[in-house]
Amino acid sequence: MSAFKALGLNDELLQAITDMGFETPSEVQEQAIPILLEEDTDLVALAQTGTGKTAAFGFPMLQKIDVESRTTQGLILSPTRELCMQITNEMKNYGKYMKGLNVVAIYGGASISDQARQIKKGAQVIVATPGRMKDMISRRMIDISKIQYCVLDEADEMLNMGFHEDITEILSHSPQEKSTWLFSATMPREVSNIAKEFMYQPQEITVGSKNTGSENVSHEYYTVNARDRYQALKRLADANPEIFSVVFCRTKRDTQKVAEQLIADGYSAGAIHGDLSQNQRDIVMKQFRSRQIQMMVATDVAARGIDVDNITHVINYQLPDEIETYTHRSGRTGRAGNQGISIVIVSKSEVRKIRSIEKKIQQKFEAKEVPSGMEICEKQLMHLANNIKDTEINNDIEAYLPAISESLEAFTKEELIKKFFSVEFTRFYNYYNKAKDINVKAGQEKDYRDDTGSTRFFLNVGEKDDFNWMTLKDLLRDVLNLGQDDVYKVDVKDSFSFFNVDEKHKDLVTSVFADFEIEGRKVNVEESSGGGGGGRKGGRSGGGRSGGGRRDGGGRGRSGGSGGGYKGKRDGGYGGGGRSSGGGGGYKGKRDGDSGGYGGGSGGSRSSSGSGESSSRGRFGGSSDSGSESKSRFSGKRRGKTKPDGGGTGGRRRRD
Ligand code: ADP
Ligand code: MG
Repeated sequence: MSAFKALGLNDELLQAITDMGFETPSEVQEQAIPILLEEDTDLVALAQTGTGKTAAFGFPMLQKIDVESRTTQGLILSPTRELCMQITNEMKNYGKYMKGLNVVAIYGGASISDQARQIKKGAQVIVATPGRMKDMISRRMIDISKIQYCVLDEADEMLNMGFHEDITEILSHSPQEKSTWLFSATMPREVSNIAKEFMYQPQEITVGSKNTGSENVSHEYYTVNARDRYQALKRLADANPEIFSVVFCRTKRDTQKVAEQLIADGYSAGAIHGDLSQNQRDIVMKQFRSRQIQMMVATDVAARGIDVDNITHVINYQLPDEIETYTHRSGRTGRAGNQGISIVIVSKSEVRKIRSIEKKIQQKFEAKEVPSGMEICEKQLMHLANNIKDTEINNDIEAYLPAISESLEAFTKEELIKKFFSVEFTRFYNYYNKAKDINVKAGQEKDYRDDTGSTRFFLNVGEKDDFNWMTLKDLLRDVLNLGQDDVYKVDVKDSFSFFNVDEKHKDLVTSVFADFEIEGRKVNVEESSGGGGGGRKGGRSGGGRSGGGRRDGGGRGRSGGSGGGYKGKRDGGYGGGGRSSGGGGGYKGKRDGDSGGYGGGSGGSRSSSGSGESSSRGRFGGSSDSGSESKSRFSGKRRGKTKPDGGGTGGRRRRD
């Protein structure tokens, strides 16, 4: 007898379980299913993400509902649209041998009348996000007055997202006698409150210890100077050629920026955050699921929808404010029995935060060093060698072999191998050859003052124009189209301010601000003679961005115009990955323009190629685009509403 059968599940479900290839129940399934099948009870179940909670409530619910009846009997509330759709699919899968079963997903951002129509046909089970659900109940499109089972899935996340009121409102339309099953990864006070509020003498099950990270996740941190964060991220990605990861940032803006930088540098990356339309998010998620995107940069809220197995690394590009959030982040990896790594990139001052996380999750972090350039070269070469080893020979190549053999006739096998690998090696070598060690070791902080080649500028706006250092820095970065750390030492006084850029950006500043207005007023930017402020903070990684810094050296990427040197090569070039480099097409757009590509899906590189970097600058400076647009965009910024670039580019994107 199968272990699932022993739990009391019926043949229709067992058949589906066999089809899905589940062999043994997970712990939470083992504990929850018999209780829920046998008793009409409320239940609180605490288990980490990836432990199989969906089936833990899904199997019993399906077994208990009456498919002969068209009445809505089960309601599952879940925090995001993505999860909602995922649960719906799972439920349909579980119930595929249950004739007449109708499971309907209800979520925002899609046609409400379509959803109402589906409900009208008679849905025994509804899976919903709270916002849309509440809406449809109030419009009398959904009747839940007869439900017998209500699941609050990912309760902690729903509460985190502020759905408390919506849930209260929804449940007020449901009968008292129903059973409520609450599933959550963590048990913060809000969750126990909601359990008290809506449940009657719930049974409790806990899988693993509360509030700890998954057993299958190891935790590592890398200490670098704050300004080397991005460089560290790149190196970690390069040192893990098979990486499939979620990179967490704190703000939508940083999320967008980091993704843009990665894409510009030739990685298959994407961003997911709240300023993207639902459609854009769906496209990015699809690309991530199909692995066209290897690195998904996400905000915490948007990441709640990311429910993808086999994520190899969770990367905390920035630490979250709440330790609880760290648990959620790291729970994205190490799922379904796989091993996962949760990486944190920290600056020295943040190391103490690592200690408090360790206490909370009761797991140790390993302090690791960002791999050196040469270690990365080695990793990449071995990766290539393995790819070659595993590649099946394509017999259609025969026809071309005589010509190839002829041209390579003069070389021995050893020489051929050297040449062949040099193609890959040279690119990485050139990029990393002079790369410095960016690790900050204990007691060895970089000398802040010895850097030269920095220019300080004076600018005649200040606090009285509603700026603080953060909003001014954001503005400058936007206007100059520079990276995260390229504008620094921003110092805002009452009616004027100072900032620094590296020497190499000096002319850019001068030209962009030669003719720049804020709300009709000419902004004056001059090199500051006082030299106040000196060099930039922190050491600079020499190999990093100097000399153009693009990793796809040798002119392959940008001029090639296809997929960009690095990416094309890494994914498809030697037949190893089989992932087509064309797939990320929409994202590639990023490397040509400044804000064309996001969520574009395909063809982005074409559509944005007309807007080179200079024209994007012009948008703010009024030097080429219409002045009125530049002004209005600008004042939006100034009020601190720093909408990421992607937000403003929808039109261009949709043109395709
Ligand atoms: P959770 O809701 O706890 O985060 P899910 O229900 O989404 O976890 O399950 C995570 C993954 O594990 C899914 O891909 C699911 O199909 C798979 N899974 C669930 N139960 C089992 C099982 N008993 N055996 C094998 N895989 C399972
Ligand atoms: Mg789940």
